Amino acid sequence: FSAQELTAETFEQIKARDQKIESFLTLNEQQALAAAKKVDEKGITDADKLAGIPVGIKDNIVTKGLKTTAASKILGNFKPIYDATVMEKLHAAKMINVGKLNLDEFAMGGSTENSAYKITKNAWNQTKVPGGSSGGPAAAVASGQLLAALGTDTGGSIRQPAAFNGIVGVKPTYGRVSRYGVIAFGSSLDQVGPMTRSVKDNALMLSAIAGHDKHDFTTSEREVPDFTAKLDGDIKGMRIGVPKEFMDQGVADDVREAIKNAIKTYEKLGATVEEVSLPYSKYGVPVYYIIASSEASSNLQRYDGIRYGFRADDVKNLEDVYVRSRSEGFGDEVKRRIMLGTFSLSAGTYDAYFKKAAQVRTLICQDFSNVFENYDLILAPTTTSTAFGIGEEINDPVTMYMNDILTIPVNLAGLPGMSLPAGFSNGLPIGMQLIAPQFGEETMYRAGYAFEQ
Ligand code: GLN
Repeated sequence: FSAQELTAETFEQIKARDQKIESFLTLNEQQALAAAKKVDEKGITDADKLAGIPVGIKDNIVTKGLKTTAASKILGNFKPIYDATVMEKLHAAKMINVGKLNLDEFAMGGSTENSAYKITKNAWNQTKVPGGSSGGPAAAVASGQLLAALGTDTGGSIRQPAAFNGIVGVKPTYGRVSRYGVIAFGSSLDQVGPMTRSVKDNALMLSAIAGHDKHDFTTSEREVPDFTAKLDGDIKGMRIGVPKEFMDQGVADDVREAIKNAIKTYEKLGATVEEVSLPYSKYGVPVYYIIASSEASSNLQRYDGIRYGFRADDVKNLEDVYVRSRSEGFGDEVKRRIMLGTFSLSAGTYDAYFKKAAQVRTLICQDFSNVFENYDLILAPTTTSTAFGIGEEINDPVTMYMNDILTIPVNLAGLPGMSLPAGFSNGLPIGMQLIAPQFGEETMYRAGYAFEQ
C-alpha cells in the first residue's frame, strides 16, 4: 500500500463505521491526504516502521492549526498555534494524523458521557459506554477505523477504555513522555500513551513518542530503549505478584475468572505467580480525587473567557467575562472538580485534605516499592467489571469514581501500566493489567507480548 491509499481507505472506514460509534470530533482529511502524499514522495525505508500509518489523536492534545477542544465548550473553536511534542514526534515518524477523538471534558470522567459534544459508543455493544476518558480513541481503534491512537491517562483513562473495548493501552512511566502541548488536568499524574490492537504496535509507538523534552522539565533524560527489541515470547523465571486487594474489592466474578486464567497461562509460560499485598491502595480513590482535582482547579484557571475559544455574550464588565464564560463554558463534572480542588487547597482545609492526601500518596508508592523488591511485575484486573450501560452511572459521581480503584494507584506512584485483552463475558471484553517498576516498560511489553501469543 502507499500511504495515500492507506489514508484514503482509513477515511472510508471512518465514514462507514463512525456513524454508529461517534468517536471522532474533527476529521483532518485534506491535511492527512496531503501529508500521506509527501510521505510517498519521499519514499519509505525499512527503518520507517510507522511511516504512512494513520493515527487518531485524543482531543486534549494540541494540534497546530487543527481544532482542539478537550471536548469542552470553553475551548470552542480553539485552533492551537503549535504542535504538542508528541505530535512533532509522530510527524517525525511519518505517521498520518487523521483526526481528533472524543473524550470526557478535560479528561474528567470514565465513560466519555461528559463530552460537551457527543456520546461515543462501545465498539462491541452500542448500548454500553466505551469507558473514558479516552473513549473516542479506544472505540475508534476497536471498531476497525484505526490501527492506533494516542490517549492520555491521569487515573486510568487509557487503560480502562482499552479494557472496555478489548485493545492494548499503555500509560508510560511518569516522565517517559512529554506533556508539552497536552491540555493539563492533574500535572503530577498526566501521561500520554499509545492505544493499539497489538502489544508490538504499542511498543513501536511508545518508542516513537518517548524521550526527554526541553519543554517539559519533568521528562526523564534516560535513553529510550527500542521497546520491541525483547519481544520474543520468553518470560521463563519472571516473578509476578497478584495483589490480593485487587482480586476482591467488588471485582465481578467474570473478571476474576479471566484473571485466574491469565495466571495459569503465565505459569505455563514459566513465570512464578504469587499473591502479594498493596495495603494502602484502598485509599487510592479519595487520595486521587483530592490531588487530581486540586491540580485541575489550578490548571483550569487559564480558561478566563479571554485567552482561548469561548466567551459569553453581552458581558457587562471584566468580572462578568470571567464568571459567565466559565459558568456557561464548563460542564457540571468540571465544575465539581474545580470546587472540590479549590476547597481542598483552601487555608482552613489544606492540612486536612491536600496535605493528608499527599502523605497517603507516599504510603501508596512505598507499597509498590516493597512488592518490586521481590517481583518483576504486578498482574491485576484493569477494571472491576466489563463496560456498563450508557446512562447507568453518569448521575452517580461516587460510583463512577470508585470504578477507578484498580488503575489510580499506578498514576499516584508514577508507574507504567498496560491493559490488554484477557477474555470476553457476555460479548464484552475483559481487560488485564500489567504494572512494572518505574521505567520498566520493557518488562511489561515482554510479558504482554508473551501472553498475547
Ligand atoms: N476517571 C478518572 C477521572 O475521572 C480518570 C481520568 C483520567 O485518567 N483522565 O478523573
